[in-house]
Amino acid sequence: MEHPVIVAIDDDQQVLRAVERDLRGRFGSSYRIVAAESGTTALDVVRRLKLRGSAVALFLADQRMPGMSGVEFLAAAREIYPDAKRVLLTAYADTEVAITAINTIQLDHYLLKPWDPPEDKLFPVLEDVLGDWQAGFLPAFEGIRVISHRWSARAHEIKDYLARNQIPYRWLDVETDAEASVLAASAGVDPAGEPLVVFGDGTHLVGPTNADIAARVGMRTHAALPFYDLVIVGGGPSGLAAAVYGASEGLKTLMIEREAPGGQAGTTSRIDNYLGFPAGLSGADLARRAVAQASRLGAEVLTPQEVVGVTVEDPYKVVRLADGSQVSCHALLVATGVEYRKLDLPDAGRLTGSGIYYGGATTEASFYRGERVAVQGGGNSAGQAAVYLARFAEHVTVLVRADSLASGMSAYLVDQIEATANITVRVNVSVVALRGGETLEAVDVTEKGGGSPENLPVAAMFVFIGQAPRTDWLGDLVQRDDAGFVLTGPDLARAGERPSGWPLPREPFLLETNVPGIFCAGDVRSNSVKRIASSVGEGAMAVRFVHQHLADL
Ligand SMILES: Cc1cc2nc3c(=O)[nH]c(=O)nc-3n(C[C@H](O)[C@H](O)[C@H](O)COP(=O)(O)OP(=O)(O)OC[C@H]3O[C@@H](n4cnc5c(N)ncnc54)[C@H](O)[C@@H]3O)c2cc1C
Repeated sequence: MEHPVIVAIDDDQQVLRAVERDLRGRFGSSYRIVAAESGTTALDVVRRLKLRGSAVALFLADQRMPGMSGVEFLAAAREIYPDAKRVLLTAYADTEVAITAINTIQLDHYLLKPWDPPEDKLFPVLEDVLGDWQAGFLPAFEGIRVISHRWSARAHEIKDYLARNQIPYRWLDVETDAEASVLAASAGVDPAGEPLVVFGDGTHLVGPTNADIAARVGMRTHAALPFYDLVIVGGGPSGLAAAVYGASEGLKTLMIEREAPGGQAGTTSRIDNYLGFPAGLSGADLARRAVAQASRLGAEVLTPQEVVGVTVEDPYKVVRLADGSQVSCHALLVATGVEYRKLDLPDAGRLTGSGIYYGGATTEASFYRGERVAVQGGGNSAGQAAVYLARFAEHVTVLVRADSLASGMSAYLVDQIEATANITVRVNVSVVALRGGETLEAVDVTEKGGGSPENLPVAAMFVFIGQAPRTDWLGDLVQRDDAGFVLTGPDLARAGERPSGWPLPREPFLLETNVPGIFCAGDVRSNSVKRIASSVGEGAMAVRFVHQHLADL
């Protein structure tokens, strides 16, 4: 951690150099000494220190400076660093001003010039105030700070992105956190506007995209090579497993993930049914371990980077990326999973991020401490979200269309929900309207069989109403079932015939699509099991077929 800062300000160059020299000699091993020749220059420095997250222990300012007096400077600096100690250097004639400043700006001390010898007249005073400062000092958070309105949808996405990529951050609410307004003012931006992201080095971005953030924190978004044996599209459990097995078995492997490694599994607070983790583990943990394992074994991971198209130039597959670049490969694995179905109700778009969330339970739960919230859906993901939210919210209502929870949820989750006092389950209900101004305030629900809508006051609703496969980027290249899931292996055969246009004398492999060398694994595959373990299994199996495909080239 960098040393706390002492800022000295004096317009007299000679005096300033002397103060600087004395301070450095006595305090330089524990504090960084910064000297400035005017109040305005010093304030610029102070704002930059604030953005960088540096701690300031002491301001030592001369009272008599043109433009901005010492007291004026200390008053302005106090707005930015209220806890830093304030000491004024005065001439005898300014004693009255200094005494007044003790009340007006809580001046900690004033020193009469000259202070020679410093051992007697300067250091004891400063040691005393610095000792006080140290006693109350809490080291500042050194990671990324996100400053926004609580209901900013983009800020919600940024926080979700940072959390899912295990990038530590602190969120500051512009309405309630004094630090937030100070940071916004230091960066010269309107705190009510786009989210402000301040990085550990003091630089900042206003309303950045995920890719902007990734570039700043040094994540890799460009492929190192033009050609790979295997390119994996999607970094959920199936893609990660394929990356681990592909790289460990000597294939030049590239995995491309558009949001954050871990996929859907990465968004869950607790996975109870994954083999080998009897106490359960969080999705974030699973993702972190898998990325570390894949990277250690030699797989290249690009994130965030989106694949927007693919063409076949036999025997190569050419993958197009959202930034306009492309990479080629011999084998391609489609592991793009599924995405949440969105609510088809008026105001759903407007309220997304302001009370309506798709799967974001782990990121947002703590904001709803002590409030009433709803979870819509009856599957395992809804059940996990309800149990997690119940740790924070005053009450959670689970809204299920089916006539029982057991019809769509694993028994262990049904048991957990029943054993949680602040969860109520409402079956046979549909959400028919969303109510609220700037943020969600209530939802209207109707019972199956009609009746007038009932108004349920909730501050947030977490929506888990099914999923749709992510396959747009494949165009018409591979065959899909009626719901859009990718067909592979035996599912491609119609009346015992090979898929039309299939060019090889062999059948498609179990996880191969109708295009030789393009494979598919996990939730995006037609008839897949939609579980983490099965996705991991399919990712690992796909690599075996990739080897067979490469052997035939
Ligand atoms: C909240 C929740 C809780 C769950 N809990 C459990 C559980 O406890 N146990 C269990 O067994 N299962 C659970 N599941 C299901 C499990 O998470 C999924 O079955 C599993 O994640 C599927 O893995 P996948 O790799 O096939 O796809 P996904 O996890 O969906 O990952 C696909 C990835 O591909 C990326 N992607 C998509 N399109 C592109 C593109 N064009 N370019 C680049 N990348 C792209 C996505 O961003 C995503 O990261 C849960 C699901 C949810 C939503």
